Order: sequence, then structure tokens, then C-alpha cells
Amino acid sequence: MTSGGPLRIDADVAVIGSGFAGALTALCLRQTGRDVALVERGRHPRFAIGESSTPLAALLLEELADRYHLPGIRVFSKWGTWQRARPDVACGLKRGFSFYFHAPGKPFGDDPGHERQLLVAASPHDEIADAHWYRPDFDHALVREAEAAGAIHLDETRVDAVAEGDREVVLEATRNDRSLRIAARFLIDASGPRGCLHRLLGLGEAPLRWLPPTQGLYTHFRNVRLWHRPSAEEPPYPPDAAALHHVFPGGWIWALRFNNGITSAGAALTDEVAATVRAADGATAWARLLAGLPDVARQFENAEPVLPFIHSTKLGCRTRRVRSRRWALLPSAAGVIDPLLSTGFPLTLLGIGRLLDILETTDDGEARERALATYAEQTQEELDVTEQLVGALYATMTDPALFKRLALLYFAAASYSEAAWRLGRPGLAPGFMLHRDPRFGPELRACSALALQQPAGDERAALMRRIEAAIAPFDTAGLLDADRRHWYPVRAEDLLANAWKLGAGADDIARMLARCGFSRSVPTH
Ligand SMILES: Cc1cc2nc3c(=O)[nH]c(=O)nc-3n(C[C@H](O)[C@H](O)[C@H](O)COP(=O)(O)OP(=O)(O)OC[C@H]3O[C@@H](n4cnc5c(N)ncnc54)[C@H](O)[C@@H]3O)c2cc1C
Repeated sequence: MTSGGPLRIDADVAVIGSGFAGALTALCLRQTGRDVALVERGRHPRFAIGESSTPLAALLLEELADRYHLPGIRVFSKWGTWQRARPDVACGLKRGFSFYFHAPGKPFGDDPGHERQLLVAASPHDEIADAHWYRPDFDHALVREAEAAGAIHLDETRVDAVAEGDREVVLEATRNDRSLRIAARFLIDASGPRGCLHRLLGLGEAPLRWLPPTQGLYTHFRNVRLWHRPSAEEPPYPPDAAALHHVFPGGWIWALRFNNGITSAGAALTDEVAATVRAADGATAWARLLAGLPDVARQFENAEPVLPFIHSTKLGCRTRRVRSRRWALLPSAAGVIDPLLSTGFPLTLLGIGRLLDILETTDDGEARERALATYAEQTQEELDVTEQLVGALYATMTDPALFKRLALLYFAAASYSEAAWRLGRPGLAPGFMLHRDPRFGPELRACSALALQQPAGDERAALMRRIEAAIAPFDTAGLLDADRRHWYPVRAEDLLANAWKLGAGADDIARMLARCGFSRSVPTH
């Protein structure tokens, strides 16, 4: 410390933002002995949006926990272990993705073929299910772990300037009216979309190419009713114990139930729909939106917001530059794509793993330069492919059958990738959503591009067939089985029957399922 000058803090790595991603990154870095300064403008516990996890996110969290010897983090990868080890950290049971397609102004109508539904299970039972992360608790828990591991957590700290030098990167910051100078050899920006470096370094916003401009309107509620009412036919999992999606032309509503009585709910709307309901009005806009969706309105009839509505005027965004010699943005700071497929967490966790690899395996110099260039390319490519598919889903919200077929591209890639990783064969699943697979990747992009044109007649029929053909070699979950009538359970038989697509035998699959606790519904510890 220089007398009278700013307090100087030296670290190997500085991380800006102590959301789950920054806190987890700091924790992993501490496990490798790095000195870490974690800089946060707010104070925990605090509200954060982005709550629904997926099997791939859980797997990536598990892998990081194993790699960095973090059993206290590993418990968060599954509902069962989470409930037993950390009942103090609220979360929600997520057994799958539930989509219901609504026609504005009309009651929701079911039919025996479930033509207006898509239920895709992500787990066979609760014990190994995913969770919605109640971020005020979850992020705080991760921050505490990072602090306990020795990270210097500077909350309520404003970063005023960033300067990249030859040997270090320096943050000029202010905390409690005190000036700080934080010098680090590397800086990771985990401050979320349009975050700290985006603004301070003027990194520039890249235009969205496929996603229409959308707005967000959301909050946390109490007293949200269950959507699903008991019926003669048993769905593959309780549809409310899921990421519940109500889809309608020009937008969708999510509802994520936590185990503390709170439900996160909100809407992503095209600018057109947002203007129609005057989204900036908050609660009254929400009421206007629900007025056009009578059955959803019934679900929220007694719901009370526990926080003011947040209106985001521009939900999706991309940052042009995501790295330099001494800094990099996490994927969650590099862009946010509409949360329709809950892609934020897995993309972010992939990015965390890659940056940790780079910091562990390279020093300053050319090798690091090359690795960071590859990181930037992967980050942008994965945001591109996600944006393109989600953009295509927006284009087909008026056509549930095509929307559902397209969404199966995501579910096929996700379930195939998870199985490949769990079999110890990650090489079979290159890139997020298999986008670097020479067969699947080009088809994923081509089918998304065609759907964006909203084809009709023969062209639409040809696209439906093309998507099916793209999925078939990677379908390990019975996704093309018409008898399922848009309800897809997780079944061991499907994996066993399709083991050959993973270059595996029935024994490999059986061992993998046993390792994962697939058939175990009662915890043994
Ligand atoms: C409406 C919406 C819904 C979403 N739903 C999902 C979902 O269901 N599933 C999913 O996987 N993803 C979802 N996402 C994406 C998800 O929110 C992100 O992937 C996730 O929040 C990233 O976590 P993070 O820790 O990187 O960033 P954040 O959660 O944004 O945390 C950033 C932290 O940095 C701090 N910070 C910001 N600026 C500064 C600064 N200048 N100086 C210091 N600190 C700063 C903030 O206070 C905050 O604590 C959603 C996104 C949106 C917009």
C-alpha cells in the first residue's frame, strides 16, 4: 500500500462479478493456488435472473467440482444430493422441459395426440434430476465457498477504469469511498451481459443476426398455481416440476417453481408484442399479456409478485470483442441469447472450463495468445449457433409442429452429448449442440436457416423431413418415435437400443447408467 494513495491489491487473476460464474471461477482458481481478487459491485444475497439448469450444465458443474476437488459444489449438480447436503440453499426440481402452445384469446386445448405440447424429460426420477437455482441463495453459497478458499471478495466495489499493460492489467476501483488499485496478471469478466469491460473498454455491440429484437418482463411470485391438472393419462414427469414454457405467437412465458414457495416467472416478447402490451408498464403489462392467454391467466390468478417487475428493453445482446492479451469475457458476459432453451448456464460453464485450462496450461506469450484466440472463436461460434436455432424457434412460434421438430434438434444434441460425455467419450460430441460435428453441425445451421424463412407447403414438409434425418443418427432418446405423441420420458431402453450410435455396447451403457444412479430412486447415503 502506498501511503495516501489507493490501496493496492495484487492478484494472479482478478474476476469481475461474483455471480455464480465469477464465484465458481474464483473458487476453482484458488484450488490451483492462484491469488484471486473477486470484484462485485453489489452485495449478496441479491436477485439474479437465469435460474434453470440442464443435464449438460449439471454435468459440467460436476466435472469442474471433480477436477478441482470441490465436493461441496458437486452436491449442487443433482436435486437429491442438493436436498440432503444443502437444504439451506433454495432450489427447484427440474425434471424436464414442458412446452404448451397457445392460440391468443383461446383456452388451451389438449388432444389425444398432444399436438400442442412438448414434454421432454431430462431425468428418470427426482434423485438425479436437475435443479432451478434460486440465485440469491445459490450465488451467495458459491461466494462463501470462494471466500473460504481464500479469494479476496471485494463487494460494493465500483470499477472506474481498466488499463492493460505489458505485464499486468490494472483496475482502478472505489470501495466505501476508498480508492483501490487491483493489479492482476489476467482478468476475467464475469459481470454479465453489457457488463464491466463491455462498457469501460467500449467493446462494441454486435448486431443480432437471427434472433428478433425481444424484451423481457419478469419477477418472482408467490401463490402461482400448478399448471397441470391430474388427468387420466400420466405424463412422463410432473409437468410443473420443470422449466414450464407457455409459447404463443411472438413470445413465451416461463414459470420455474422453487422449494421456498417462490416461482420465477416472466415473458420474453418480440418488440411487436411488447409494444402491444406496453411492457414498460410492468405489472399492468403482465396483466394485459395474460388477458390474451386465459388458461395462463388462471394459473396466475392469485399470484403476487414479491419484487417489482423488471422490464428489459433488449433481452438478447452480443459483444463484439471477447478477449485481449490479458483479459477475457466469460460467455455470459459475451452475450445473452433468449433463455428459451436454458442455454446460458452450459455455455458459461464451458467457457469457465476453457479459461481455466488456458490459465493452467499456458504462460504469457504466443501459446496463450493462440489459446485465447481459439477461446474467442469458440465463444462466438457457440453463441451464433444458439442464436440461430433460437431465432428459428421464434420464427415458428405460430407453427407448433415445426417448432417442436426444430426443438428436437436441441434435445437430440443435448442427450447425445450428455451420454457421450458420461461414457468418457467427449470426442463424439464436439462443440455445444454438436455444432462442430461434420454431419450434425451443418444440418443444424441449415435447418435453422430454412425455418427462419417460415416455409410453407412442400418446402415446410421437406424441412420437417430434413430435420428428422439430421436427428436420426444422434437420437438416443426415442425422439423420432411418433408413438410417444410428443411426450418423451427418459428410458434406459432407448439408450441401450441406440448404444451403437455412441460406439458403445450394452455393457458400457449399463455401467454408465449404474454410475449415474439411473435406476436408483432411493438414496443410499
Ligand atoms: C431473462 C433471462 C432468463 C434467463 N434464464 C436462464 C435459464 O433459465 N437458464 C440458463 O441457463 N440461463 C438463463 N439465462 C442466462 C443466465 O442469466 C446467465 O447465463 C447467468 O446469469 C450468468 O451468470 P453470471 O454469474 O455470469 O452473471 P450474472 O448473474 O449476470 O452476475 C453478474 C454479477 O456481476 C456483477 N456486476 C455487474 N457489473 C459489474 C461491474 N461493473 N463491476 C462489478 N460487478 C459487476 C453483478 O452485480 C452480478 O452479481 C437467462 C438470462 C435472462 C436475461
